[in-house]
Amino acid sequence: MDTNESAQQVIDWLDQNQSIFIEMADQIWRTPELAWKEFKSSHLQADYLENEGFSVTWIGDLNTAFMAEWGEGKPILGFIGEYDALPGLSQKKQPTKEPIHEGEPGHGCGHNLLGAGTVASAVAVQKWLKSNDKSGTVRYYGCPAEEKGSGKVFMARAGAFDDLDAALNFHPAHLNTPSKGGAVGVNAIYFRFYGQTAHAGGSPHKGRSALDAVELMNVGVNYLREHVKDDVRMHYIITEGGKAPNIVPEEAEVYYFIRAAKPDYLAEVVERVRKVAEGAALMTETTFEVLFEEGCSALLSNHYLADLQYQAMQSIGPITFTEAEIEFAQKINDAFPGTNSDYIDDKIEYYKASPEIVAALDEYRDQPLVGRNFRALDEHIIATGSTDVGDLSQIVPVSLLSTTCFPTGVPGHSWGNVAASGMSIGHKGMLHAAKIMAVTAVKLYSDPNHLVKIHLEFKQQTGGKPYVSPIPEDVKPPHYGPEGD
Ligand SMILES: [Zn+2]
Repeated sequence: MDTNESAQQVIDWLDQNQSIFIEMADQIWRTPELAWKEFKSSHLQADYLENEGFSVTWIGDLNTAFMAEWGEGKPILGFIGEYDALPGLSQKKQPTKEPIHEGEPGHGCGHNLLGAGTVASAVAVQKWLKSNDKSGTVRYYGCPAEEKGSGKVFMARAGAFDDLDAALNFHPAHLNTPSKGGAVGVNAIYFRFYGQTAHAGGSPHKGRSALDAVELMNVGVNYLREHVKDDVRMHYIITEGGKAPNIVPEEAEVYYFIRAAKPDYLAEVVERVRKVAEGAALMTETTFEVLFEEGCSALLSNHYLADLQYQAMQSIGPITFTEAEIEFAQKINDAFPGTNSDYIDDKIEYYKASPEIVAALDEYRDQPLVGRNFRALDEHIIATGSTDVGDLSQIVPVSLLSTTCFPTGVPGHSWGNVAASGMSIGHKGMLHAAKIMAVTAVKLYSDPNHLVKIHLEFKQQTGGKPYVSPIPEDVKPPHYGPEGD
């Protein structure tokens, strides 16, 4: 059987069985759960996969992380799903803002689609391997806490991805495109200072202010900014600054995100920030401790894998949206500032788009939904946000696919995304992603040469250096009971 026939088999299976995964995505959408508390979402997927013959293992001491495996031998391909929601984004399936339950969570990043679409892809590939008597292993990873908590970093530290040959994943977005870009890594750290309290009016000379130390540390870091590489980002908030102006603060705390594109350089900058804290403590005669909260590594993209995904996209064709969907999307766009055309301009600038891409995007200036497939647009871009896919990408080759699940002008993590994630626009983007990942996987199982090339590139990117977890050994993920709290 040639690969075209194989590709058609997985596409047909996904078309015939789409209602299962639309229902799975909708069910997760209806019961949005926050990071580390995705009990219903993870069990819904694990139970389904178990019924389909996968063997399910819950990973380490992480409540809501699991791996579902089917098949035997090499290659072992990982399908990487997520399912956590965002706080305060409850929203009805309608194009105007109205929560279902005020203040409750909602799927503002489309992770209901991300998880269910990736399950769909893994099962489509399993059926294809089975019906064609092919060897190879399919694994689905249910990954918790992407929005907050860096679940994959803990899974990576537990060795969950170590023996994968390649990983496939996607993220709901505004365009269909694989990725050749990078993203910076991040360390999230609290610096907590301890001083000596005193009456600020009566005997200030007896006080040693922890807040002074926090302020001086921030001043020091703001000077440090000039002497770091361009990709470095350092941002902070003061999480504790004392109780009243007439009490010299005994304790104060500042919370930092420190980002850089290379893991080694990130570690170097973190050490320099720590020295600034040391200086601030010395100046104010206070002490401090460093409380590491979370971190994730820089993202690498495998270009060869991105090109395979683009080939798959071309063979599948664009997403076709109905008039009703286009109207729904336009109403959402109208609710946010800027026009569809402004959004296209932003994308052209951000991607430093080639004339060919500019011409293609120009066709969508008046469209609230972009159904067309694009080759990787971000080849030279290092995003200055971070994702825990970074840690996965330092262990195994991956290219994070995007598919159109959201109206063009809707900002990330907004009620507009929640609305689109719960209806047919999101479902279509999800199925498109499931097909692209499945067709790509079929190619990887069918022709070992692809993986040889993918691994050659991966080795060049990492320099063959083994993965080092960005989180210290003693940092453990939080635990919540099944009822949550
Ligand atoms: Zn997300």
